[in-house]
Amino acid sequence: MVELRVIVQNALKAGVAIPAFNVPYLPMIEPVIRAVVDHDSFALIETARLEWVKFKAGGPEVVAKEFFRWQVPDHVRLHLDHVPVIDEDGQRVDYLQIIQQAIGLGYHSVMVDGSRLSLDENIAATRQVADSAHKSGIPCEAELGAILGHEAGPLPPYDELFASGQGFTKVDEARRFVAESGCDWLSVAIGNFHGAISEGYKDQKKIAARLDLEHLETLSKAVPVPLVLHGGSGISREYVLASFQKGIAKINIATEIRQAYESSLQSTGKISSAQEAVYERIGWLIGEYFGLGNIQSKVTQQV
Ligand SMILES: [Zn+2]
Repeated sequence: MVELRVIVQNALKAGVAIPAFNVPYLPMIEPVIRAVVDHDSFALIETARLEWVKFKAGGPEVVAKEFFRWQVPDHVRLHLDHVPVIDEDGQRVDYLQIIQQAIGLGYHSVMVDGSRLSLDENIAATRQVADSAHKSGIPCEAELGAILGHEAGPLPPYDELFASGQGFTKVDEARRFVAESGCDWLSVAIGNFHGAISEGYKDQKKIAARLDLEHLETLSKAVPVPLVLHGGSGISREYVLASFQKGIAKINIATEIRQAYESSLQSTGKISSAQEAVYERIGWLIGEYFGLGNIQSKVTQQV
């Protein structure tokens, strides 16, 4: 089995990105995997803490159980997404315990999110998780910068945020962060934002985000690791495709497929229909929108 670290490096070199799909509902796992295989792509199934706290993913253990039931290792692996040190409601989280549990369950990579901490604290927390992940031979993702959206309430006006570059990952901080934390992949803030999850906002369509591609290129040249784009739903397509050429090698997609599942379930009342809606949407995303069909043999090459 080719290591996931190598697969993401291959994607970086090939100018493509590994899509990572969030699964806030367990029945989403099977159709996601089926669509990835049918499009001869390679993807990650991922679960974030908020998906078992605020949605119905259940927890890292049940997600792993469902994943390993359907897995096709040449096409899909399992990633632990956002485990925040301080969560979207400002609460401290026992992140190390959750991450160690996931490593024990066989997750192929993990993420710690210290982005609400100071730079020094974020480095320290990430260092701890990266060491623990590396002992088990798996990569660690971290986040630097402010990727908004998970917090309660509406987003600040997007155009103002983008124009000011407020919260964007800073180049000098990124350089130091990667060197000192030992993280393998870095999630950056370059104009992207998370889909809203709070009641009253979670059904809203995301506004079309842009990316500061010049800033992305500078960041990518400053750090020796692949970069990750969170909030992949709703970013204008030309920006997403260009980002794959400028250092983004993993892209997280959550809102788009969650809403496909929820709206189908609401209108039909059938889980099987909601699963087919997810299958269709994933196929469209991989095949048409992101152009990431047929990348399997390219990214799984042994180096
Ligand atoms: Zn994220």
